[in-house]
Amino acid sequence: MQQLSQKAIYNQFASDNYAGICPEAWEAMKKANTGFVSSYGDDLWTELACKELREVFETDCQVFFVFNGTAANSLALASLCRSYHSVICHELAHVETDECGAPEFFSNGTKLLHIDGRNGKLDLTEVELTITRRSDIHYPRPRVLSLTQATEVGTVYTPKEIEYASQLAKRHGMRVQMDGARFANAVVALNVAPADISWRSGVDVLCLGGAKNGMAVGEAVIFFNRGLADEFDYRCKQAGQLASKMRFISAPWIGMLKEGVWLKNARHANHCAELLEQRLTDINGVRIIYPRQANSVFVEIAESAADALRAAGWNFYSFIGSGGARFMCSWQTTEADIDLLSEAVRSACHNSIERL
Ligand SMILES: *Cc1c(COP(=O)(O)O)cnc(C)c1O
Repeated sequence: MQQLSQKAIYNQFASDNYAGICPEAWEAMKKANTGFVSSYGDDLWTELACKELREVFETDCQVFFVFNGTAANSLALASLCRSYHSVICHELAHVETDECGAPEFFSNGTKLLHIDGRNGKLDLTEVELTITRRSDIHYPRPRVLSLTQATEVGTVYTPKEIEYASQLAKRHGMRVQMDGARFANAVVALNVAPADISWRSGVDVLCLGGAKNGMAVGEAVIFFNRGLADEFDYRCKQAGQLASKMRFISAPWIGMLKEGVWLKNARHANHCAELLEQRLTDINGVRIIYPRQANSVFVEIAESAADALRAAGWNFYSFIGSGGARFMCSWQTTEADIDLLSEAVRSACHNSIERL
């Protein structure tokens, strides 16, 4: 046990999924661990979690829980498409770059058409060009517009931007799916109601992230358009995504939604990223490459500085976005972590400039 716990990583800014389970989710899971409870979601915890999500979103939506984000996105997309359709997404979208072809697999061949756009957001002119470029039978018919909120590079779409995107999609008979792995971070960044950046701005299906915001597992697939949820339960079961002990996925959601814990966690993560951005901004040799709006900071630093940071034990990704270093904060990040990282970056950049 001791040996295992020593393997914990402290200098960690790689991803918000390196963080543990937050106390509130953990408590709720423990509370659900009493007696015998019926399986496969036919239980009071699951019923209550769905009810609370309906309250939070202020609408009578249909809710499903799956194990992870890849399943949530790919099953949601598959349910909106036939095999000869296509999904338009950003070229940096998780569904395009990080799901190992799962959306295509679960939809039996639906093609992802990826387009460019500044700061990780879809350029709507490009979207429209892609939709209207062809209308012949040889081209996979665009059926879904997929947006990521917050985006893969830590920016957020405003309610208006989502509304324009949805209107464009709907004008062409398309549906709108939102990858909300970091939806909570976007809600607090924008200071809006969850409904404002989902169904009120035209989103049909939201894949709402839990794991990166303090849960162990369990993303919610939320259909605002109930008609689209038809037989989604079969899809989940067939894909191996129907948890028999569902209460351990749904109960933590109750803990997260109670008194806005999910937003408190996201607010904390965003705040840490904001602090980090402030500290890094005035370091010589650091350039912030995307507007910092949610819980990540992307920077360009010299390769030798990145290597030095890694050698000193710091964990961060550099394959997301256009190749900069990504520092990701979570509910578990502390201000002390931010201080240590900023100083480490300062010294790594200083040394790398000295060497030039
Ligand atoms: C992490 C993440 C997901 C979900 O990934 P899983 O590892 O499958 O849970 C989905 N979308 C985005 C943008 C993510 O960052």
